[in-house]
Amino acid sequence: MIPIVPLATGNESVVQHDVQHYMRPGTLQLSTLPPLSLYVHLPWCLKKCPYCDFNSHELGAPKMPAASAPQGGASGLGRPGAGWPGEGLPEQRYVDALVADLEAALPLIWGRTIHSIFIGGGTPSLFAPATIDRLLSDIRARLKLEPNCEITLEANPGTFEKDRFRAFRQAGVTRLSIGVQSFNDTHLQALGRVHDRAQALAAVEEAAQAFDTFNLDIMYALPGQTLEQVGQDMAQALQFAPPHISIYHLTIEPNTYFAKYPPQIPEDDTAYGMLDHITELTGVAGLERYEVSAYAKAGHRCFHNLNYWQFGDYLGIGAGAHSKLSFAHRVVRQVRLRDPRLYMERALAGNALAQAEEVARADLPFEYMLNALRLRNGFGLRDFTERTGLAVTAIEAALNEAERKGLIERDFARVRPTVRGFDFLSDLQAIFLSNGM
Ligand code: SF4
Repeated sequence: MIPIVPLATGNESVVQHDVQHYMRPGTLQLSTLPPLSLYVHLPWCLKKCPYCDFNSHELGAPKMPAASAPQGGASGLGRPGAGWPGEGLPEQRYVDALVADLEAALPLIWGRTIHSIFIGGGTPSLFAPATIDRLLSDIRARLKLEPNCEITLEANPGTFEKDRFRAFRQAGVTRLSIGVQSFNDTHLQALGRVHDRAQALAAVEEAAQAFDTFNLDIMYALPGQTLEQVGQDMAQALQFAPPHISIYHLTIEPNTYFAKYPPQIPEDDTAYGMLDHITELTGVAGLERYEVSAYAKAGHRCFHNLNYWQFGDYLGIGAGAHSKLSFAHRVVRQVRLRDPRLYMERALAGNALAQAEEVARADLPFEYMLNALRLRNGFGLRDFTERTGLAVTAIEAALNEAERKGLIERDFARVRPTVRGFDFLSDLQAIFLSNGM
């Protein structure tokens, strides 16, 4: 990465949007700009999960079980009653900061249409539907959204009342993504989740009623989990006929509670068997594995995530949010300040950037492959040139090596990972690290 535009101001370094710098001539030639998505980060959760390395901040234990949470104000777009677990969140100030952050970034995306919005976290469903309604109205007032723009909101079981999901739908959310992880109480406890099986079932039932399209996040290779239990979780999930499922292997990430106190998780071979079982069960239910961890029915693929994997552009606003933006002669990455309080303070003062870097020409092939090779259908060679501004000759040697090792198959127009390439994805991607330009 080539760092750009850090401005020294006394004893601290401030990073700023520098449109003029981004627009200057450079060695890359992007003939056209990719689709643009918007990511909005809401960084609070009821409790930090022991495996989580996202920018999420603990709000405190729920004040009451979701089943007995107040109903008042949940229908329509009203605010939840007193005692709501998310009570005390600085919702309005945070949305003010998001809007200020967006306005500061507008010159970077001037005239471009937004193809999808993803409100992620953290636990965005802790925010009141009325606040999400305000956020989306404020975004619409400043950006041109594509008609039928996909708008996803992440929700967790245990953070909703009756009709709450319907209220998010009324606010303009078109797709709900629910962090179920498991339907097994023992495994939910081992994962440190705040919800139980009954709450997971209630949340999915409510989502299926309120949304035409929704996603369930399910994890496998959990502490003490057997193949049979994986099958039980999947059978339960598939009973709801979900249009989309995302499957995640429990991994132990640095700087998490599990990194310090690692649980006993299934061996790699057992985990591979679990994934094969999941792919088989989802296939029978009519869901196609279109990406390493994503399974969808026809017409229900997630546009927002596809745009990431196809090396599209995204503007990320909110604490710790990442952006990737293309200009005629360069690709730029940005990161916002991670700490929510500091983020709000700085965003409201006009600048919430923590880092801004131009992606080095030599890093572009690997960055592209990290994403595109996750897709079952791979990528078009023309797309590679369009998105990176590089000629295909830049990856010819790496493509030859990957083909020789049986990790990809290709014709004159497309490159696809083979079944082996999909199974050994990081080995395949690494070829483009060492064999880049
Ligand atoms: S609910 Fe999700 S974002 Fe929040 S701590 Fe758990 S894993 Fe992280």
